[in-house]
Amino acid sequence: MRAWRPAVGGGPLPPSSVPPGARVRQVGGTLLPGLRDAHVHSGLVDLRAVRAGGISQVDDLGSVPASVAELLAADDPELPQVRAVGAFLTAPGGYPSDRSWAPPGSFREVRSVVDAQAAVGEQHRSGARAIKVVLHPGAGPTLPARVLAEIVSTAHGMGLPVVAHAEGDNTVRGAYEAGVDGLAHTPWTERIEDRLLTDVAQRMSWISTLDIHGYGSDTAELRTAVDNLRRFCHLGGTIRYGTDLGNGPLPLGINAREVAALQTAGLAPDDVLTAMTDLDSPAPPCWVPGGLDRRPSRFAGSLCTARVLDPSPTS
Ligand SMILES: [Zn+2]
Repeated sequence: MRAWRPAVGGGPLPPSSVPPGARVRQVGGTLLPGLRDAHVHSGLVDLRAVRAGGISQVDDLGSVPASVAELLAADDPELPQVRAVGAFLTAPGGYPSDRSWAPPGSFREVRSVVDAQAAVGEQHRSGARAIKVVLHPGAGPTLPARVLAEIVSTAHGMGLPVVAHAEGDNTVRGAYEAGVDGLAHTPWTERIEDRLLTDVAQRMSWISTLDIHGYGSDTAELRTAVDNLRRFCHLGGTIRYGTDLGNGPLPLGINAREVAALQTAGLAPDDVLTAMTDLDSPAPPCWVPGGLDRRPSRFAGSLCTARVLDPSPTS
């Protein structure tokens, strides 16, 4: 599989760069590492359609852990690779416990510091690859700082990064100060001031999720998010392509509007590819049959023709 790992950011590699002895399958077009959507709710979308639309790997950012485990146990070759965070960790009565799309089990109400350790342990045992916490004071109670800190330290002790849904005034600062590693969404409710953003860019990664703020329409929320992401990118912050699939009318598969919005925020085509790939992932590669058009105005449309390549042909 190592031979499937073309360099991202350095441009296409010629056939002469294939290592001697590598198993070779000749295909026209452009081969890419597996493309990832880093924010998906697998209980709310048809993952087979997501893979058929060119996504090789999804990060599930909040589902019922048992449902994800059942999905993975099926070992269905038509499914993308799935890495999950388990359930949302939230305050009793906090977001998203009152939302119709959040079934019992998709969130875990954390009642105390001691309960924080238990809640993280439960997600870890369910196979979670990260822990998701909620900071959304406008939608109900939020986790006290000491409980949030315990979640973060317990997760880190288990080798799990923590990603936050941070929505509303000062929640990005709260996440940063608690030691949270990433945000599930580019902040969209307020402009993140430069001094905080400089610190945040040193340590946090952000999942883009720009298109949910308009689904193709220009909105104030989209402009705020793009402005924050542009400055975060400029400061060297790590950006992951993610769409929040399951939240509203998003295309299943690669989302050209999300790609275009990333470009609007200042990412070059190679930066977008970096945001969509994880070279340490075993996800199968993707293939653009007609060749990837890296001209900025054509890039998003061209990338959407990518398809996941079966890495293990038997014939
Ligand atoms: Zn989400």
